[in-house]
Amino acid sequence: MLRVMAGDTLTASTYTWYSGTPQAPGTQPSLLNSIGTLFADGVLGVPGSKFIQVQEGALTTAAGPALTSFLSAKDAAYSSAAPKAFLNWALLDDRFNYVTGGVTQVPVITSGQNKQVITSNLPSVIPKNGYLYIYVSNESLQDVFFDNVTIQHHRGPLLGEDHYYSFGLAMAGISSQAAGKLENKLKYNGKEIQHKEFSDGSGLEWTDYGARMYDNQIGRWMVIDPLSQKYRALSPYDYVADDPLKLIDPNGKVIAIAYVDKDGKKQTAYFDYDKGIAENKKGEEVKNDFVDNVVKSLDYVKNNNADEKGIIKALVDKKKTVTIKFTTEKNHPIGGTTVYFNPNSGTKVFQDNNHVETGKYISPALGLFHDLGHAYDRITYGNKTVDLQTASTFKDNDPDRKYDNQEEKHVIQDFENPAAVKLGEPVRTNHDGEDRPVSDPLQHN
Ligand SMILES: [Zn+2]
Repeated sequence: MLRVMAGDTLTASTYTWYSGTPQAPGTQPSLLNSIGTLFADGVLGVPGSKFIQVQEGALTTAAGPALTSFLSAKDAAYSSAAPKAFLNWALLDDRFNYVTGGVTQVPVITSGQNKQVITSNLPSVIPKNGYLYIYVSNESLQDVFFDNVTIQHHRGPLLGEDHYYSFGLAMAGISSQAAGKLENKLKYNGKEIQHKEFSDGSGLEWTDYGARMYDNQIGRWMVIDPLSQKYRALSPYDYVADDPLKLIDPNGKVIAIAYVDKDGKKQTAYFDYDKGIAENKKGEEVKNDFVDNVVKSLDYVKNNNADEKGIIKALVDKKKTVTIKFTTEKNHPIGGTTVYFNPNSGTKVFQDNNHVETGKYISPALGLFHDLGHAYDRITYGNKTVDLQTASTFKDNDPDRKYDNQEEKHVIQDFENPAAVKLGEPVRTNHDGEDRPVSDPLQHN
């Protein structure tokens, strides 16, 4: 009996020989009955073995139809020119349902002929994960010899098939693993399951998300969210806000960059804060014009120590993933988990209130940092912010009217302007501005 996976290829062959005139098979007891008798006399006959007796019915129910259909196929293949002896195979799936099977009968061997090779009619590729039984049988009344039964098992590329409950616990009953392969521990969400890591073969069965360990049996983290004060409405042990159908937690540490690759396919790169580069899910550096411009802009702010409040690092560490997307729209929505960016659009700086140009310009990179400031505010404080948006829009006679609203004033004064000073770019005293085409995301002169 072999553990097989869909995609495996197998061959089976044997030498066989008999002598004399082929004899018809005798009256055979039913194989099903033999198995039943075996159980009844052998195991079930033992006093007190009630548990096994209960199981006998289930066993017959499960194996019965499979064996019956296989055995009738075998009988149909019998030719009376040779003894009723076969090289047999039967494929059962993971739940021991009969999938397919076949037999090869011993050939006609005339007097003086030597042993003959017979080869099984196995399918060229195994169609389903399960168990393959290969055996030789002889139901005739004469001796039939089999020798050197050879089975070659070429494993296919399939290592396993995993099915999960939505919180990540594997459904073992409908998942399957190939035998004799190195175990793939990168499972649900591509995270490593801590499995069999102790010397006695046991394990914690926790999933390593980098920042924290996750227990998929209870759908909870094992330690609290390091950023839990940002999500006061949620338990700090909750996994993805208890909504695994909509949300994933890539590692709780990501700024994503959406881009279109050279084949026109939508892709996502991830900004690695420490390395200052963008990588794909496999950890390979992504090279793409838009991605390069985003990375250049983020590194420009980061490497000049212009991010005084550490909002880029904070966004990288956030549970919610912020995605930077390309746009050429002048007016794009701000403040959600999507931040729009045009690397070729800087900002003209105006004097207060009068829309008079100052001849000074802000780089697209600083504009991106400004918008990341909005994303940081919204993710940190939510849409009903504590102190930023309760009276969000200033009244006409308010001296801060030039900032439009509390949030803009906060983003400009607390995030943008300190960065502008470090970067040698102009500071702003209002939220006025106008797009200005530039060739480089760092251009501000
Ligand atoms: Zn703004």
